[in-house]
Amino acid sequence: MTLAMQDKTILLNAIRDIPDFPKPGIVFKDITTLLSDKEAFSLLMKHLAQRYSTYNLTHIAGIDARGFIFGAALAQMLGVGFVPIRKKGKLPYTTVSEKYSLEYGVDEVEIHIDAFSQVQNPKVLLIDDLIATGGTAYAAANLIQKVGAECIEACFVMGLDFLDGQSKLSEITKVYTVIGVD
Ligand code: AMP
Repeated sequence: MTLAMQDKTILLNAIRDIPDFPKPGIVFKDITTLLSDKEAFSLLMKHLAQRYSTYNLTHIAGIDARGFIFGAALAQMLGVGFVPIRKKGKLPYTTVSEKYSLEYGVDEVEIHIDAFSQVQNPKVLLIDDLIATGGTAYAAANLIQKVGAECIEACFVMGLDFLDGQSKLSEITKVYTVIGVD
């Protein structure tokens, strides 16, 4: 189930473009304006809850930090658990980690080793606000699998289609973007 074109336009209009942030040449997609718009935020969350209501998920895993906002809200709506995937050094218990390449250098994400251990056959939806090159989400989906869960799908409010981050990620999980931008 995907979103109708007029609803995509409402969401697109609620997201603010900030040119040259955090560095020259990047157009930052600012979702704080979507979050503070109660109609737009509710439209998005109801759509996600409807789409994923039939997936028999046990958990939502959100990527640090904006994935936590959408992920925690959706987990509560679906009545499933929430698991944070964090940048290196933030999680207090034993972690499993995965490095990934950035434009310059490398970064690392982590998950608690026992994140899904309360259930048998955990089925997880990965969520973040945006997929650009897909490096972060690819590492996050790998982490979910490394700790013994199945990543059923990776979901993004926005996809920067011109960067085609989705094709590599789709080798390891299904990918859904609510809105694609060229
Ligand atoms: P990537 O690993 O290249 O797919 O980058 C995805 C991560 O970086 C996500 O957590 C996004 O929130 C953030 N990100 C990358 N590019 C942008 C952008 N243009 N606007 C907002 N967030 C971005």
